[in-house]
Amino acid sequence: MARFTAEHQLFRQTVREFVEKEINPYADEWEAAGTFPAHELFRKAGSLGLLGVEYDPAYGGGGADHWYTVVLGEELGRADCGGVPMAINVQTDMATPALAKHGSHELKKAYLEPALRGELVASIAVTEPDAGSDVASIKTTARRDGDEYVISGSKIYITNGTQADFLTLLARTSPEAGYRGMSLIIVPTDRPGFRVARKLRKLGNHSSDTAELVFDDVRVPVTNRIGEEGQGFYLQMEQFQKERLIAVYTALGGLQRAMERTAAYLRERKAFGGPLLGMQYIQYTLAELQVEIESLRQLAYAAAEGVVAGENVTRLATMAKFKAGRLVRRVADTCLQFHGGAGYMEEMWTSRYFRDSRLLGIGGGADEVMLRVLVKTEGLEV
Ligand SMILES: Cc1cc2nc3c(=O)[nH]c(=O)nc-3n(C[C@H](O)[C@H](O)[C@H](O)COP(=O)(O)OP(=O)(O)OC[C@H]3O[C@@H](n4cnc5c(N)ncnc54)[C@H](O)[C@@H]3O)c2cc1C
Repeated sequence: MARFTAEHQLFRQTVREFVEKEINPYADEWEAAGTFPAHELFRKAGSLGLLGVEYDPAYGGGGADHWYTVVLGEELGRADCGGVPMAINVQTDMATPALAKHGSHELKKAYLEPALRGELVASIAVTEPDAGSDVASIKTTARRDGDEYVISGSKIYITNGTQADFLTLLARTSPEAGYRGMSLIIVPTDRPGFRVARKLRKLGNHSSDTAELVFDDVRVPVTNRIGEEGQGFYLQMEQFQKERLIAVYTALGGLQRAMERTAAYLRERKAFGGPLLGMQYIQYTLAELQVEIESLRQLAYAAAEGVVAGENVTRLATMAKFKAGRLVRRVADTCLQFHGGAGYMEEMWTSRYFRDSRLLGIGGGADEVMLRVLVKTEGLEV
């Protein structure tokens, strides 16, 4: 089956041009600045229809099939930095899927529609200083007071956190009810009591801003809740699936580009009387990595096919996220190694890729959290 039609390929060209024209020329500058102009860039992305390819056209989405999301991820992944693609992915597939699927018409008009145009920047706020992998142990509370929630607590490692206009926040709406005591709430960041406590410095993804956020009795209308009260944990688990899939598609683009650049470098670099690419050890190593990348691609495409068919793809998406998290580390390390001293230099792309790729095995569910899910899907529980 041809997965990508001529229309998909046209879209691929659009995203590739966007990356080459609007991201790559500024990547070094934004990496050095530790941030990028999200509002400016997202408006450009929005005008090209990149921010809501699958969302309902009634709110400005593209109403397209899931293969467009695959294309979007693959092409963003070819950018010269990991931070900006990650920030875009947060906007399109991490902070907005639950809002698009379960939000009220009014909430979607107020937040989704401008987010898809790139006018409002979104963050997903789940992780807390004392709760990351164990999402069910979050402590931030949203206490009901009449028609409002009063939010108290803090969130950490929040992507787009210093620039966000609104957060999709997971908070505890009834402390005693465990998994069923959480709700997803849209929190505009211009409310009194909200503040960015600090912008965090990181190992990689420097162009993406990451923040710790504090909520000190922040009031939002109860109508800002997505779906039913108490459904937040389940809605977030569903939303995580989108997050993991786009992360995998983006990783695939990055992997492929890294392999292309490494082969091109080794074809030119001479040692021991010929190009380094002529060394059988290097050829075999790169060929083996291509097998791994193709295996990941097939796993990811099988998951995408499942999404298109409306199936539950938890198993395949989890496997793909796990494999991608491990593989990017191996490929980034190998590419750097085969570039020698040049590969260790800041001016060579390999250094940034090495740093940026370390995140995938941690964010959006660590490798071990993926394995925890797979223990269940593979029937390995005792
Ligand atoms: C750059 C960056 C951007 C991020 N962006 C966002 C964002 O936008 N929004 C957001 O909400 N969060 C974000 N995060 C947070 C991210 O999702 C969490 O860091 C991640 O889920 C892990 O949680 P934790 O850091 O609390 O690690 P912990 O939960 O403390 O886990 C630490 C380590 O323990 C191991 N581990 C965990 N559970 C198990 C287990 N069951 N069995 C065995 N080993 C285990 C894993 O190796 C894990 O890495 C971001 C993180 C980073 C670094």
